[in-house]
Amino acid sequence: MMLKHKTHRELLTLPCGAMVIDTPGMRGLGMWDSAEELEKAFSDIELLAVSCRFKNCTHTNEPGCAVNAALADGPLSAERGQSYQKLQTENAYAEDAKSYLAAKEKKFKEISKTNKLNRKR
Ligand SMILES: [Zn+2]
Repeated sequence: MMLKHKTHRELLTLPCGAMVIDTPGMRGLGMWDSAEELEKAFSDIELLAVSCRFKNCTHTNEPGCAVNAALADGPLSAERGQSYQKLQTENAYAEDAKSYLAAKEKKFKEISKTNKLNRKR
């Protein structure tokens, strides 16, 4: 099945009950705090991934992939497998954005510190 380009909003419900609105424009804003959150949301897939033949399996077309096997055999829905893939990609992107924002925040703090010093004078 091909992943169609998403142009609509999607409301994702996490197992913990939190709801996340995923819009195309929100890409990379770090809707997943960390890889840890992703692991929690898809703990069933993470559990399957442990059985993959390769430790660095991307669950796309590796031989001996337990996630693909579960997709083929049915216990895992194709939809869920796809959102996992998608979020994994977005999370990698969000990590980049996060370090960018952290650097930006640091810079901002430095500027405001300088401002405060200037005000005291
Ligand atoms: Zn795999």
